[in-house]
Amino acid sequence: MENNIVLLPGDGIGPEVVGQAVRVLEAAAAAAGTSLRFTERLLGGCSIDQYGTAMTEETLADCQQADAVLLGAVGGPKWDDPQAKVRPEQGLLGLRKGLGVFANLRPVRVHPALVSASPLKPERLAGVDLIVVRELTGGLYFGQPKGRQMVDGHEQAVDTLVYTDEEIRRVVRLAFRFAQQRRKKVTSVDKANVLESSRLWRKVAVEVAAEFPDVALEHMLVDTASMRLVTSPAAIDVLVTENMFGDILTDEASVLAGSMGMLPSASLGEGGAGLYEPIHGSAPDIAGKGIANPLGTILSTALLLRYSLNQPEAAARIEAAVDKAISDGLRTVDLGGSLTSRQMTDEVLALLNV
Ligand code: NAD
Repeated sequence: MENNIVLLPGDGIGPEVVGQAVRVLEAAAAAAGTSLRFTERLLGGCSIDQYGTAMTEETLADCQQADAVLLGAVGGPKWDDPQAKVRPEQGLLGLRKGLGVFANLRPVRVHPALVSASPLKPERLAGVDLIVVRELTGGLYFGQPKGRQMVDGHEQAVDTLVYTDEEIRRVVRLAFRFAQQRRKKVTSVDKANVLESSRLWRKVAVEVAAEFPDVALEHMLVDTASMRLVTSPAAIDVLVTENMFGDILTDEASVLAGSMGMLPSASLGEGGAGLYEPIHGSAPDIAGKGIANPLGTILSTALLLRYSLNQPEAAARIEAAVDKAISDGLRTVDLGGSLTSRQMTDEVLALLNV
C-alpha cells in the first residue's frame, strides 16, 4: 500500500531541512518495504506571495486526505507586520484546526554528548527522556468572548478560558497511552488552586487514570512544574497540560536539549493525518546558506513513521542513526561544528544501514 505524504516546506530554512529529511524518510521507509508518495504544497509566507493567503483550501484538502503531513517552518521578516491582515501563522493555525490535531507532542531527550550544549548543570541532565503533551485546540487561545471594550472610562481586554470534559479526556487519554509504552508515569499540570477549568482538568485526569491502572498519575501545579523542569527533569516521563501552560512549558523543556535544531514534534488527533515538524522556526538569519541543522526535521520523520505509518522499527532506526551521528562527534554549525545540512544528512543516511 502506498502512503500519501504532503510536504509543506514553508519559508526560510524550512525547504532546506525538509528537503534533507525526506531523503532519510524515503530511505528508512524503503528499507521497511513501505512505499511513499509525496505531494508538495505551499504554506505560510510563500503561499501569501503566490496566492494572497497563508493556506489555500486545496492545500488543506490535500493535507486532510493525506496519511501524514511534514512541515518545515513558516514566517520571516518579509511578512512580519503585526498589523497585516494576512499572516504566515494563519496557515499553521488553520492547518491544525483543519486536521483536528488536538495534541502536540514534544519528546525531549538529552544526548550525553550534547550535555555541554545545554545551559543546565550536567548532573541535572542525566537520564532526561520526557514527552510534553500539550492540548492544542482549546483553552485561552480559542475562548470566546474575547475583545476590548471601555468599562467605567478604562479600556478592558477580555480573554476566556474554556474546556469541556471531552476536550480534556481525549488529550489526557493520549498521554496515558504514551506513558504505557514508556516509564508508566503521567504528570498532569494545572492551576487547580485557582482556576475552575483546572479543577475540571484534574477531575477528568483522575477518571482517565482509573482506565490505566498500570500508569501512575501525579498532579502538579504549573508554577511547580516550571521549576521541576529545570531542577529535576529526569523525574518526568509524560507531562500533559492545557494549551497555554503547554506553550510555555514546551519552550522551557526544549532548552534542556541544547539546540532548537535537534527537537521534533508531532501533532495528533483521533485518526486522520498527523502533522510533523521540527520545533524551530524559519531561522531567517541562516536561511539560504545550507547550514541549518536538519536533525529536528529528520527526527520528526521518525515520529511520522511511528505514529502515522505504524512503522516503529523504521522510526527507531532513524533515531539510532541520529544518536550515533551525535556520538561520533558529527556537528552542524549550531552545535559548534562545521557540517552543512546535506553533509549531516549524508552521515545519517550512511548510519541508517549500519
Ligand atoms: P527560530 O527558531 O527561527 O530561530 C531562533 C534561533 O535559532 C536563530 O538564531 C536560528 O538561526 C536558530 N535556529 C533555529 N533552527 C535552527 C536549525 N535547524 N539549525 C540551526 N540553527 C537554528 O525563531 P525566531 O528567530 O524567533 O523566528 C524566526 C521566524 O520563524 C519568525 O518569523 C517566526 O514567526 C517563525 N517561527 C515559525 C515557527 C513555525 O513555523 N512553527 C515557529 C517559531 C517561529
